[in-house]
Amino acid sequence: MPIDPTLPYDAGNIFAKILRGEIPSNAVYEDDYAFAFEDINPQAEVHTLVIPKGAYVSWDDFSAKAGDAEIAGFVRAIGEVARAKGLVEPGYRLMANIGAHGYQEVPHLHVHIFGGQPLGPMICKR
Ligand code: AMP
Repeated sequence: MPIDPTLPYDAGNIFAKILRGEIPSNAVYEDDYAFAFEDINPQAEVHTLVIPKGAYVSWDDFSAKAGDAEIAGFVRAIGEVARAKGLVEPGYRLMANIGAHGYQEVPHLHVHIFGGQPLGPMICKR
């Protein structure tokens, strides 16, 4: 079920547990501001998630409340991961789902990196 992005941050969410090392993940990148790991249910040849280390529910929450260094660090981390995975020349897709219409399931901001294959149209046709 999609989450309500207007609710306060829930420190019990699964990505918070991954950040605290309480549950395992297949980590691919980490710095002061961001952590990246492989999606457990990949939807493309490359499907990696990048999350900020700070407690932000969604892109909305993050863009409104995060400090400039956190925002810069998170954006740079996404680029680092894409470069490290060799995605720049063939191309790739970034996606951040927010709330019900975006079908966001985990209430900790995450950007999906999809790549490694042609990805088709941007969204499904109705
Ligand atoms: P979203 O619909 O944007 O909230 O996407 C949540 C993503 O988190 C989905 O692609 C899930 O497959 C992924 N996911 C859920 N639990 C885990 C986990 N423990 N480790 C890695 N990815 C996960």
